[in-house]
Amino acid sequence: DEKPLDSFLALTADQFPEKKALHFMGKEMTFAEVYSQAKKLAGYLQSLGLDKGDRVAIMLPNCPQAVISYYGALLAGAVVVQTNPLYKERELEYQLNDSGAAFIVCLDILLPRVTNVRGNTQLKHTIVTGIKDYLPFPKNLIYPFIQKKEYNMVVKVEQSEDIHVWQSVIENAHEQYTPADVNPKDDLALLQYTGGTTGHPKGVMLTHYNLVANVQMCQKWLYKTKPGEEKILGVLPFFHVYGMTTVMNMSIMYGFEMILMPKFDAEDVLKTIQKQKPTMFPGAPTIYVGLLNHPNLKKYDLSSIEACISGSAPLPLEVQQQFEKVTNGNLVEGYGLTESSPVTHANFIWSKRVNGSIGVPWPDTDAKVFLETGEETEVGEIGEIAVKGPQVMKGYWNNQDETDNVLKDGWLFTGDIGYMDEDGYFYIVDRKKNMIIAGGYNIYPREVEEVLYENEAVQEAVVAGVPDPYRGETVKAYVVLKPGHQVEEEALNAFCRNHLAAFKVPRIYEFRDELPKTAVGKVLRRQLIDEEKETNN
Ligand code: ATP
Repeated sequence: DEKPLDSFLALTADQFPEKKALHFMGKEMTFAEVYSQAKKLAGYLQSLGLDKGDRVAIMLPNCPQAVISYYGALLAGAVVVQTNPLYKERELEYQLNDSGAAFIVCLDILLPRVTNVRGNTQLKHTIVTGIKDYLPFPKNLIYPFIQKKEYNMVVKVEQSEDIHVWQSVIENAHEQYTPADVNPKDDLALLQYTGGTTGHPKGVMLTHYNLVANVQMCQKWLYKTKPGEEKILGVLPFFHVYGMTTVMNMSIMYGFEMILMPKFDAEDVLKTIQKQKPTMFPGAPTIYVGLLNHPNLKKYDLSSIEACISGSAPLPLEVQQQFEKVTNGNLVEGYGLTESSPVTHANFIWSKRVNGSIGVPWPDTDAKVFLETGEETEVGEIGEIAVKGPQVMKGYWNNQDETDNVLKDGWLFTGDIGYMDEDGYFYIVDRKKNMIIAGGYNIYPREVEEVLYENEAVQEAVVAGVPDPYRGETVKAYVVLKPGHQVEEEALNAFCRNHLAAFKVPRIYEFRDELPKTAVGKVLRRQLIDEEKETNN
């Protein structure tokens, strides 16, 4: 569909004005209300001098303002820059400078971070909002993205020339704004920075067309859903492309109600499912694992859940089966990356799925596997997966070299190593950048991790190549044990030796209470390797 993404909010608000658009910790808003507030923000931003194509950063957890700011900025013709609320000043400054954002909408408790860096950036206006703007008495709300000492901090924000208080924007502004003349295929809706698990974050340029296409594919893939009739659980953060597309944009385009959760707390999620009865629940393996391991899991009725897609990392078969048992719904594995809005593959949700596979390319999406020589692989042969389709990015912002490295003749080279079977199902072996080269042998961490997961004491395991003076790199395993379980390093090593060729067996084991993770629960492998390098220096 060649319409700007924000025009769907107008259509949905017109079709379902009084239907609930969102539910946030007891507060509800209809589509008409969300649209009205988004228009007010659009008008306000334009009155501050916003021109088409200007960048508006949004630094918010899942809350009503995250949806209103995103659509308000788009209505005004801006390009949204999603900013992770977990970012520290250095990361925030980098992203603001790289994107050239002149406006930011941020949560009140994050304002000090913005204030400390704004002098080094091109920021002109800051719009500040608090959870209390929508919930007068939030109970026990603990944000995952601030320091403990900041929990009870009350930030008094005074309206000034460059600081704007959300309530005065929403209460005073008129719904008048000048619709931007957007070309959906060419104009950017979003600069989405990559997660940074493998290096410096890059600004992925996604057009309105890219984002709309990915949501429409999702709807075609789900096909049984009816506009206006589903409820989606929004645990995935909207500042990450995965939650943004599969929860927020999906809800706005198809009139589904979204249940916003500002942070992941397993019991809170279980309670919310029982009470709100969502039908759809996109997630990541760590989220489903967190719920399944909760001691009170059996107390809750999760039977409203019908459809779940798990992405961002491999989904263990056991997790899939257990989750389907407790919900009675279908949970299938999919795959994608920021550069493709993000989804490109998934297993069929209502029919044949193949365990261990990321499924088949989504509607209107092509996928192939290429050898380093540029030739296509044979069926079953391993190479780099490339994808082509309307959800593939325009390129990296201000980074033609990186763009040329990954975009070739319309094919996006994903950096993921994998293969396709004779039925057209794709499999991920590992990420190209994760490959360990130890003593001349190539080792894919994922294969070693899968073995570690088979050990009954292991809750989580990550394997990385750490510097080694003799072998270049050596295999190190970081292991988190299940509560109440114990295993000696020697026993774990013997277990690995039984299941892996000797050169793949970890030489070093480190037991930890938890592993560093990104906002969608992906382990920060890079951070572990960097820590290792620092200790060695
Ligand atoms: P960066 O690209 O900066 O390193 P990131 O890993 O967080 O950060 P994303 O775009 O969020 O970037 O993640 C995309 C990657 O996630 C894919 O390239 C792939 O390696 C991995 N991934 C996604 N889904 C799956 C899956 N089902 N199985 C295995 N890996 C997956």
